[in-house]
Amino acid sequence: MKFQILGGLFLASMAVSAFAVDPSVFTWKTGGFEVNMLVETRSAGRPSILLGVSPERLAEYFPDGTYQSEVNTFLIRGGGHTVVVDTGFGGAIFENMRQLGVRPEDVDAVLLTHMHGDHIGGLQKDGKSLFPRAKVYLAKQERDYWVDTAANAGARAALAPYGSKVETFLPGAIGGGAPEILPGIRAAAAFGHTPGHTVFLLESNGEKLLIWGDLMHVQGIQFPLPDTSVSYDTDPVAAAAARKQILDYAVRNKVPVAGMHLAYPALGMVEAAGAGYRFVPAK
Ligand SMILES: [Zn+2]
Repeated sequence: MKFQILGGLFLASMAVSAFAVDPSVFTWKTGGFEVNMLVETRSAGRPSILLGVSPERLAEYFPDGTYQSEVNTFLIRGGGHTVVVDTGFGGAIFENMRQLGVRPEDVDAVLLTHMHGDHIGGLQKDGKSLFPRAKVYLAKQERDYWVDTAANAGARAALAPYGSKVETFLPGAIGGGAPEILPGIRAAAAFGHTPGHTVFLLESNGEKLLIWGDLMHVQGIQFPLPDTSVSYDTDPVAAAAARKQILDYAVRNKVPVAGMHLAYPALGMVEAAGAGYRFVPAK
């Protein structure tokens, strides 16, 4: 089935692919960092995950009843490190890295925005670490919630092979006080989607990039109507507040943003538009 999606691309398949999709890599430079956005899966999303949107409004924003849904991960090289931000399902990420000449053992840091399955699925297989030399960094609130409070078996299994190589941090405010996790990479709080949901701010030679994890899932409606949350949000009200705070930061400071569920190239600028925002994809 063919259908038009937001970016003007055409998809021939509605199936979620376990393998690299085309186009599957977008490359960007932030000062001395080379950033590769890696598409893990691309499929037709269901707008029914949106909370509090009337059928009339859904029909207005999604006339064909669907949107381009992606799961993305990011590879960052620079500052003496090879870093992966989120690991997708553990599928196409490894093929995409191979195409870029990067082996799993080259990665020395895995940063997690949060612990949902589409972000931690590439950490381990059969109890073995898939990034054998990497340390894993995540917010303490996130680890505590999924590993201790929710006692989530998938979250425990994801971190288990890394043992003492798991490092937690306390994310700070986006505008100031966000701790530097690795040289040029800061961790800022965007709690709500999950209790420790974190966005990472890269800075090098005066240039910035904000990798915002799951601040947004359905860009066709969440840029213009940023109050709209989704059923995956642990706390939909807090998620909306974090979304607006981070969007406002990106606009005021003209910082490019990138997201795990934005459509290819999944990186671009945010502009104010009416009561909400508009996304201008990078080229
Ligand atoms: Zn996600």
